[in-house]
Amino acid sequence: MGLEEYRAKRDFSRTTEPGGRAAPEGGGQSRFVVQEHHASKLHYDFRLEIGGVLKSWAVPKGVPLQSGIRRLAVETEDHPLDYINFEGVIPEGEYGAGSVKIWDSGAYKLLKSDQKKMEFHLEGSRVNGEYALVKTGDKSWLLLKKKQR
Ligand code: MN
Repeated sequence: MGLEEYRAKRDFSRTTEPGGRAAPEGGGQSRFVVQEHHASKLHYDFRLEIGGVLKSWAVPKGVPLQSGIRRLAVETEDHPLDYINFEGVIPEGEYGAGSVKIWDSGAYKLLKSDQKKMEFHLEGSRVNGEYALVKTGDKSWLLLKKKQR
């Protein structure tokens, strides 16, 4: 892991996206962001701060707001922590060309994590509550909101 794949895909002389250093793991709480990305196809990028990078998934239909709804989430390359604040337009011809804006962000608590499943509590203004990511294939996961307890 790391940011090699992220950097290899981008020309930082053209895009205003952060070049990024992987930050050392510090104290404080972990953050998440959901970015609305109008690329060739609209999707929502869901990113969790883990181990000094942003673990990332592209969610075509967006993060579910109600329990019982499962959404496909495709794992993408780790992004630098700075990306959590990124909004702007990625120029035409560049990887992910199109506009990016923050749809929601906040803190989260990791409740459980192994190779196949992650459970966490999101505290955003639009998404709030317990969610899970369940791995179903090489890069494919399901993102779901858990029943309120
Ligand atoms: Mn994207």
